[in-house]
Amino acid sequence: MKQEEDFDANLAGEDGRSEESKSSWFKRIKKGILTSTAEKKETPEGLWSKCPECGYICTVTELRESLFVCPKCAYHHRIGSSEYFEILFDDNQYDVLFENIRSKDFLHFTDLKPYGKRLQETWGKTDLTDSIRVAHGKIKSQDFMVACMDFEFIGGSLGSVMGERIARAADICIEKKIPLMIICKSGGARMMESAFSLMQLAKVSGKLSQLTDAQVPYISFLTDPSFGGISASFGMLGDLNIAEPGALIGFAGPRVIKETIKKDLPEGFQRSEFLLEHGFLDFIVPRKELKDKLATVLNLFRN
Ligand SMILES: [Zn+2]
Repeated sequence: MKQEEDFDANLAGEDGRSEESKSSWFKRIKKGILTSTAEKKETPEGLWSKCPECGYICTVTELRESLFVCPKCAYHHRIGSSEYFEILFDDNQYDVLFENIRSKDFLHFTDLKPYGKRLQETWGKTDLTDSIRVAHGKIKSQDFMVACMDFEFIGGSLGSVMGERIARAADICIEKKIPLMIICKSGGARMMESAFSLMQLAKVSGKLSQLTDAQVPYISFLTDPSFGGISASFGMLGDLNIAEPGALIGFAGPRVIKETIKKDLPEGFQRSEFLLEHGFLDFIVPRKELKDKLATVLNLFRN
């Protein structure tokens, strides 16, 4: 539905939302059909997508082929764990682990609706079991463990399930000497789990130090958006901290910071390019180069 609205808005032009400008857009300048049959393009089936950065419109099929990167301005659309797994793992072959670990409403927390109901609804409308999925597979024939957050599941929030899944993934990585990567895409802690969610930061950080002791590499890959406690702890604890271009990464949002310090924020503040310049990141990797770059890095770590 939203896609359709965007498409209509774009057809009418940036400021052409009035009926008048809509009708003038459709005014025919030349009579007759001028496109020859050979030039006609078949419209593929499926939804249309509009780039939020440059307004470029293409089909979702076309966008998928370019790994959800805008073909015109290279804007990186937000994608979920299955898309990342497909990009990374050889022949799209991987095993998803710990799907049986599920959240519980142990605090009987109610905000706009009871947490238990919120969970039920989210399970119903997505095929995700929580805000992170852990998968083991091969990247250019090298073993690799990837834990990838899904923003779709309650904003990719960090709850006890995320903490437990990462911890168990780390245990396997230590036992079998497999490098671990966490793909961050989260708004922060899950408030419905209150302090239990915050404890996961200490738990995961502790596990990561065990990984260091075992000399198993850990890569933190920050994507848009990476916010809250995650970016203040395990999101920045990688042997390599890398990010996607243009990703918004920070602790508090720009509006809150602006109101607190009462100053205008610099241009591009909290974008990955800004963070790289200020020494928070090791490098930025475009999605299309991600697999090659990671394979090279893993090779270097191994030797
Ligand atoms: Zn674009």
